[in-house]
Amino acid sequence: MDSTLPAVAEELLKEIESAFREKSHIPDDLLLALKFVFGASAVPALDLVDRQSVTRLASPSGRTVYQVSGSSGKLYTCYASCHFCSCPAFTFSVLRKGERLVCKHILAIYLSRALGTCQELTVPEQQLTKLLLPQEEAGKEANP
Ligand SMILES: [Zn+2]
Repeated sequence: MDSTLPAVAEELLKEIESAFREKSHIPDDLLLALKFVFGASAVPALDLVDRQSVTRLASPSGRTVYQVSGSSGKLYTCYASCHFCSCPAFTFSVLRKGERLVCKHILAIYLSRALGTCQELTVPEQQLTKLLLPQEEAGKEANP
């Protein structure tokens, strides 16, 4: 799925996926492993998945981006393909300090894909471009 995650993390997500398919819940030992591997992101991410906060937006041309509504209701744009989230925790804890693998939003995306609870939405090309290039959009007219 994604080469930026360590093998142990990918393996764990796969185990969660198959366990969930069989038992329709995540067994305790896998939950513990999730906390061990993903640290402080694990519990809030599970909470986001419970509240179905993850939406996958796809354009007709096949480009995709994820939106995760955070605990405060703010929408974060996440690029699962390049392992990036627009939230402050990602910038500070993941990029600068390197103390976490991912923020809770990215983990919520991985989990919702594994559990099959991701909402799917098809959006026009223009709308997706705006999400992908928010800074450029601010400085010029909305003219694709
Ligand atoms: Zn995030």
